Amino acid sequence: MARPSDALTLDTPAQERLAADLLGWGAPRPQADRGLAGALREQLETGLATLGEELEAAAARERRGRLLVTKTRLDRQVCDGLQLDAKPFEHTRASVRGILAHAMIERDWDLDRQRDPATVVAEVWHDEASRRPGDPASLSAWMNAQPAPEAAALQAELAELVAGFREVWPALPPALVQRRAEEPVAVSLCEGRIQLFGRPDLILDSRRRDDRARALVVDLKTGRPRPEHDRHELRFYALLVTLAEGAPPFRWATYYVTEGRHEPEDLRPETLELTARRVVDTVGQLVRLSALTDGGARPADEAALRLRGGGWCFTCQREDSCKVAAQARAERALSHPDAML
Ligand code: SF4
Repeated sequence: MARPSDALTLDTPAQERLAADLLGWGAPRPQADRGLAGALREQLETGLATLGEELEAAAARERRGRLLVTKTRLDRQVCDGLQLDAKPFEHTRASVRGILAHAMIERDWDLDRQRDPATVVAEVWHDEASRRPGDPASLSAWMNAQPAPEAAALQAELAELVAGFREVWPALPPALVQRRAEEPVAVSLCEGRIQLFGRPDLILDSRRRDDRARALVVDLKTGRPRPEHDRHELRFYALLVTLAEGAPPFRWATYYVTEGRHEPEDLRPETLELTARRVVDTVGQLVRLSALTDGGARPADEAALRLRGGGWCFTCQREDSCKVAAQARAERALSHPDAML
């Protein structure tokens, strides 16, 4: 395959659709409201200031003297019990498939699609499996523990994902598009007591610098779509990019790799303001829990926890003994009997 030129080449109807609908290729970009980033920062600082000395005390209890706000902590805001006692992350076939798909798509891009997908997959597989094989919790340990037929089946699936991605995504000309993959984005607030942090899967930026909003933030998903959850994650990244770069993206989108489809959301200041409110609410919860637990893991008063059961309870260590979770399950069984079959 030819190396990408300085022009966008569209080889398939799917690429044409993606260029038009997601990349917005050739379409005018909205004016970048340079005041928006400052207004969002102001909104965050003002909201966080209402937490007063308790915020200061909570930050002081943290290892580096600052409270870290990530997409995971925002997700867990739904319930105090989950924020305190989420199950530790463990590699599963689905999570490994997602991690490797990201790495392979990225490598394929770096190699300008010069090798066939199976070769790219084999190379990344080898690299990742060699990384920390001695650590039993590592990705490489999980990969090396797979029997040969399972490993081969997963590699074949991943090669299909890479090939499918090529089919839908055009090669992006580096002279026109700057591509940043999993770049850390950190934003410091309240004189360093709060840090917002994330690694958006993909930030695509025009090389052109003018008064237009030109960045596109993309989150790649390989698992089952969870529309509300996925949208919240992405909006947090959009907020981070806006605050860090001083200008908002023109669009942000979840791209479902397995299905080859995207869910875009165009820039609306109201959406980012809503996300900033969610950040303030989450920090409020973290500060309250920090006071309740005195920075430790156990609250002095369990009854003071605000619990809310729902579809997230399976990710919580308290699930087996939690009455609120049981109540939520019972209510769901009544309202959605088919879903319980
Ligand atoms: S099981 Fe559910 S309701 Fe109970 S603490 Fe955990 S997340 Fe909250």
